[in-house]
Amino acid sequence: MGLSTTIQVPRLNKSITIPTGLFINNEFVASIDSKEVIEAINPATEEVLCAVVAASEKDIDAAVAAARKAFSTSWGKNVTGFERSRLLNKLADLIERDAQELAELESLNNGKPVKMARDSDIGDTIQCLRYYAGWADKVLGQTIEVDNKTKLAFTRNEPIGVCGQIIPWNYPIMMWAWKVAPALAVGCTIVMKPSELTPLTALKLSELVKEAGFPPGVVNTVPSLGPVGGAALASHLDVDKVAFTGSTVTGRKIMEAACKSNLKKVSLELGGKSPHLIFESADLDQAANWAALGICYNSGQDCTAGSRVYVQESIYDKFLAILVEKMKALTIGDGLDDKSGGGPLVSKTQYDRVWGYIDSGKKEGAQVVLGGEKRKGKGYYVDPTIFGNIKPEMKIVKEEIFGPVLAVGQFKTESEAIELANATTYGLGAGLHSNDANQCMRVSSALEAGTVWVNQYNMLNNNVPFGGKKQSGFGRELGSHALDEYTSVKAIHWNFGEKLD
Ligand code: NAD
Repeated sequence: MGLSTTIQVPRLNKSITIPTGLFINNEFVASIDSKEVIEAINPATEEVLCAVVAASEKDIDAAVAAARKAFSTSWGKNVTGFERSRLLNKLADLIERDAQELAELESLNNGKPVKMARDSDIGDTIQCLRYYAGWADKVLGQTIEVDNKTKLAFTRNEPIGVCGQIIPWNYPIMMWAWKVAPALAVGCTIVMKPSELTPLTALKLSELVKEAGFPPGVVNTVPSLGPVGGAALASHLDVDKVAFTGSTVTGRKIMEAACKSNLKKVSLELGGKSPHLIFESADLDQAANWAALGICYNSGQDCTAGSRVYVQESIYDKFLAILVEKMKALTIGDGLDDKSGGGPLVSKTQYDRVWGYIDSGKKEGAQVVLGGEKRKGKGYYVDPTIFGNIKPEMKIVKEEIFGPVLAVGQFKTESEAIELANATTYGLGAGLHSNDANQCMRVSSALEAGTVWVNQYNMLNNNVPFGGKKQSGFGRELGSHALDEYTSVKAIHWNFGEKLD
């Protein structure tokens, strides 16, 4: 196959070139030894957009070698923070320039509304790159007094080295930025494996990496099947760190591969079954808005989706009625249409998976309060669905669904609410709505989650850390904490006076 193709971006009404090769050493290249391809599909129409090269294990080796060479020559400790900052800012400018094109491509390959991709995902991406550009010349160590007369120690936060980054399909551009920006800011080099479902924007971004002026080998992009390219990165002996976002099942495999190979540093951002508590003092209309956003944003394909809502008994019926109206009002349709508040699910596999959960909810005796009916026609659409009358042992209450499917239950007391919220193996996000400030403080400190939202839901900022507890993973993205994930602390002990006899 060729190393590029063209795709029509309908809203701009033009044809754009899409690189379809592997991006290694700032060039798009064919696989060394494989003829495998990955087909990118438009989930709104089920049509194939194009095929891209699927990296083999040998290709991963080549990408890692390129990243290693760049780390020890043009990048790593050989580039100043000022230069890293300049290049990150330049990349942000180029993404801003091409935002509409990238947004349409993201929508075509992932299904999400163009407007959401452009204003939210790409807006956030630009800010993320600029935020970490700001950190690039501020990677500081400490000076530590050990003996005032003869010795001192100091620390340097050194770039950890070659980083394998494995990202999912739900936010292909934004997850790219969350991983790439802090790693580049501190001087690491990267082998990026986008999801096989959504490889197109990562390839388009690679073009911009080159245009921005990053030296060859600093960022390499290798679309590949997870068990091939992802597994090869996780077990590679010359990869110093692997950063992963995706399912808990795959996260376990990555950690195991890291253990069995070179004990590389690992960070995992995994799934969730996040609880959302609505107390009787809450502003019910606002709480319903946030609860609807919590489960319907990105068609529920969100690791922090607020998929279990628990409502205080005294307001249960009233709140549920408001929530049903809010979720009914959401327009789910083709992402190219600005009237669509949400798009289709990303793939046939996800569509079947989510319908499997809806069927299981019905079979296990939960009550369908909204949705739960399949649409006719093309596209992997699932309309917002609410289940009431839930029981803790039901699959729809215990397992991550990754679709706009909400389980709603009730509680009598604050302690019961906390117990229900924490009754999960996950610990990524949690939300609560209450107008009692003391209650907000008590409950937010009792919730077992890496992020707790009070009187809002799902809002993230580039300067605030994000990550999980329990089986939602470990390590933090965003904020200054992400810099720690990509650095290794070296302590230097300096003797300027002590003599040994
Ligand atoms: P996944 O975990 O399999 O895929 C995520 C990434 O991991 C992809 O890039 C994939 O290629 C890669 N991968 C897959 N197998 C691998 C392996 N053995 N070694 C290394 N990398 C590997 O997720 P999925 O199958 O696409 O989706 C399944 C479920 O995972 C979803 O329904 C959802 O519950 C969850 N999920 C969570 C997130 C999140 O943001 N936390 C994102 C995507 C999916």
